[in-house]
Amino acid sequence: MEDLIKYTCSVCGKEHEEWPALAYNAPQAYLSLSEREKEEIADLTDDFCVIRYEDQTDRFIRCTLTQKVTDHCEDLEYGFWVSLSEKSFNDYDENYHNENHETVYFGWMSNFLPEYKYAESIPTNVYTRSGNQRPEIVPHEDSDHPFVKDYYQGITKAEAERRINYMLNPDGTKNQQKDKTKSWWKRW
Ligand SMILES: [Zn+2]
Repeated sequence: MEDLIKYTCSVCGKEHEEWPALAYNAPQAYLSLSEREKEEIADLTDDFCVIRYEDQTDRFIRCTLTQKVTDHCEDLEYGFWVSLSEKSFNDYDENYHNENHETVYFGWMSNFLPEYKYAESIPTNVYTRSGNQRPEIVPHEDSDHPFVKDYYQGITKAEAERRINYMLNPDGTKNQQKDKTKSWWKRW
């Protein structure tokens, strides 16, 4: 953890490390495409991704998710993608520069965490925020998935640090590559 920036925390007044946001630069559906498919059927920017399959088109936006940490003054921040309906995606796109656009969409979580097994995607609400910040994801509470249970119960500081180290460690990325063929994510 020695690469992390130290700062004086406004909550506890002590100096400690600032955790990095654990961000994905694309939805898993995009990461799983071949290089040729990425060029031919997909468009990816910092905040939008569209994949045009033969039979349908999937649309994704980049959001944030805040994982509560029970025994620390900082929560763990994630940068995740969700897939939206065409209507929601177009609404988000049209209001992308509108600073006062506050609404909620239904979205399917479109990245996975190596800590959990996925048989299918997790349903979420996606809250757009004023001031042009990225929308915040809140998983539906009635899901049985362990990720959702942890989201609502909180994780420990030790678990958060383990996740950070895993994401910052190149081997962690390699393990994710191995899982590329599992297409658990929801298609519209
Ligand atoms: Zn603190």
